[in-house]
Amino acid sequence: MFQIPDWAFEFHGHRCPFMPIGYRMGTLALKLLGVEKCKDHQMHVFSEMGIGHPQGCMQDGIMSATGATFGKGMMEKLYLGKVAAIFWYPGKKDAFRILLNNEFQDKLAPHEFFKYRKQGIEPSEIPEEVRADIINMVLNATEEELFTITKIENFHYEPTKGSFNKVKCEVCSEYTFERYIRVKDGKKVCITCAGHKTDEFIVETPKIK
Ligand SMILES: [Zn+2]
Ligand SMILES: [Zn+2]
Repeated sequence: MFQIPDWAFEFHGHRCPFMPIGYRMGTLALKLLGVEKCKDHQMHVFSEMGIGHPQGCMQDGIMSATGATFGKGMMEKLYLGKVAAIFWYPGKKDAFRILLNNEFQDKLAPHEFFKYRKQGIEPSEIPEEVRADIINMVLNATEEELFTITKIENFHYEPTKGSFNKVKCEVCSEYTFERYIRVKDGKKVCITCAGHKTDEFIVETPKIK
């Protein structure tokens, strides 16, 4: 049976089936790429997940297994609403897309765990034996049962270059990293002072070809 370290559950906050699925997906990605868990800025993960579906918990498992964390800027979300992720590692020619099989999603769906969830009961309030049972389904499944792997040959990605260059916004005087500075009325200002709305804050998109 596959083992998930306790600290990963502690980090995630509750015991659900999706964090462990993500942990297994991340572990498989390390194996496919032939690399170890990343200490620094190596593996990039492009999560195809979106918002408002419980499979998003998988991303905490992926981060825990691979070290490709959101905080280090190693995970991007593509908001496609699919239970899949693409794993890329610098210097490797090919990337891998790993998809959680429809059949496994269908196998989990009738479980009692989701009867509670559909009544609005949070995972931490679901009886432990119910949670343990669905988590065991994940830990006992074979990789083939869980995932479909697609090799993406010659995957091209240019990570954004790290920079320490910051500028004082000429309106609010808060330090702002250079690439987020805009020019308004001849002044170098931050995006907030330039009057942009929140959804315009995302100025960097991953360069995937
Ligand atoms: Zn969860
Ligand atoms: Zn400002």
